[in-house]
Order: sequence, then structure tokens, then C-alpha cells
Amino acid sequence: MADKSIRLAENPAGKWYVDETCTPCHVCLDEAGPKTATPLMQYNADESKVYFFKQPENPDEEAAAQRALEICPTQAVGSDGE
Ligand code: SF4
Repeated sequence: MADKSIRLAENPAGKWYVDETCTPCHVCLDEAGPKTATPLMQYNADESKVYFFKQPENPDEEAAAQRALEICPTQAVGSDGE
């Protein structure tokens, strides 16, 4: 389970975030990366982590964020943010 106390600073305020345990393996980008129909997540500047560049704003984006949470092998994606 992701830990909001180690949430990456790049994530905007809101429910969804990536925490420091991102490796980054990039599989979540197949669900919610820049090349998908629901772009929400991208690499940070040095490509050492992935983060949410925006919060989901509709049901399709919420579903993509949920798929990213479920596929993340390190459980770095959280939905209990504020
Ligand atoms: S799936 Fe998880 S570990 Fe992999 S890049 Fe995405 S947030 Fe990071």
C-alpha cells in the first residue's frame, strides 16, 4: 500500500499520488501515461520516478488511475491523498 507520508512532491494536491517507492518500472504509463487516452502520469525531470501531473477529472480518468494503482508492482500508487 502506498504511503502518503512519502508522497512525491511533484504530485498535485488531491486524492491520487505516487510515493517514494516508485522504481520506476513504467508499467503504469501504459494505463495513464502521456500516450494514452487518459494522460495523468509522467516521468519526473531526471526520470527517476513517475508522478501524477494532474488529478483525474472524470470517470475514465479515475478508472485509468485505478488501473495504474492495481498494476504497480511496488504499490507506489495511492488513492488516499488529500
Ligand atoms: S508502476 Fe509503480 S513503480 Fe512502476 S513506474 Fe508506475 S508508480 Fe513507479
